[in-house]
Amino acid sequence: MKKAQFAFYGIFSLLMVSACACSKGTAKPHSPSPTRSEALPAFSADSAFSNVARQVSFGPRVPRSEAHEACGRWLASELKRYGADTVIEQTADLDGFGPITNFLGRFNVENPDRLLLLAHWDTRPTADEDSNPANHALPIDGANDGASGVGVLLEIARLIGEKAPSVGIDILFVDAEDSGNEGDEDSWARGTQYFVQHMAYGVTEPMPRYALLLDMVGGNDAKFPREMFSDVNARPIVDKIWTLAGENGLGKRFPNRVGGAVNDDHLPLLRSGIPAVDIIETSHPATGSFNPTWHTMLDNIENIDKETLGDVGRLVTLLIYSE
Ligand SMILES: [Zn+2]
Repeated sequence: MKKAQFAFYGIFSLLMVSACACSKGTAKPHSPSPTRSEALPAFSADSAFSNVARQVSFGPRVPRSEAHEACGRWLASELKRYGADTVIEQTADLDGFGPITNFLGRFNVENPDRLLLLAHWDTRPTADEDSNPANHALPIDGANDGASGVGVLLEIARLIGEKAPSVGIDILFVDAEDSGNEGDEDSWARGTQYFVQHMAYGVTEPMPRYALLLDMVGGNDAKFPREMFSDVNARPIVDKIWTLAGENGLGKRFPNRVGGAVNDDHLPLLRSGIPAVDIIETSHPATGSFNPTWHTMLDNIENIDKETLGDVGRLVTLLIYSE
């Protein structure tokens, strides 16, 4: 993903999506209960970390590479292993790009009251932010940018298999988020763009109540303020999530203030009318935005912080079992 260019892109999109998404912020108010959290299944940061390491072990998951295909097969098999009722492999051959595959694991599929949890599983083909220009044409491991969100959601899938929440959960791993080019805003989030153009939501079945995107959720000492597009366009859900964090000792990790604006997989969802929230690191002290490893060769497993994965995973767990 990349930081949004406001002058070129941001304001118009905000106006467009706020018209359709704000009226759908129908989340039930959160009512904290001291007994509820005791009944939650325990999110394992160790498992999430090993899910990240496993993805990285395939090699960079650049679309059209062998590592990408092998990792995709593994993701589908993991969703099935954790008890998804169905795993839909949505393949497409995009003009000017080539083949992509999105994976949708559906849990408790008969329940019309649903949440959509998503992360991108592809990795960036070029380390174009690396401090060494010699590395700019090399692919990145994408341990944080890609594997971290997927790693947390696979652990969430395991928990759902252990104890089903009251809502139905769809877990979506989208392809081709991170092959974008500077100055071409639509070249990012291609997998999600395709998903919303062909989804059953709003056609043969109800829209999910909201969507939650995890992106770059494994950085050292990461902080997750409210992402700006999410905050403007899905504020009731953002309020709920950041309040829940504060009530459960996660206020330092999730500062309740607005951070950066990001062109990411939540934007096509917002435009399609699904309230969508992006949990993403946008206020690293060294950069004022993303983690310093972003789109560099340092986005590797050594720079993944298990505690960050654990805090994000605990918040997602609290959220889905509070619905
Ligand atoms: Zn990226």
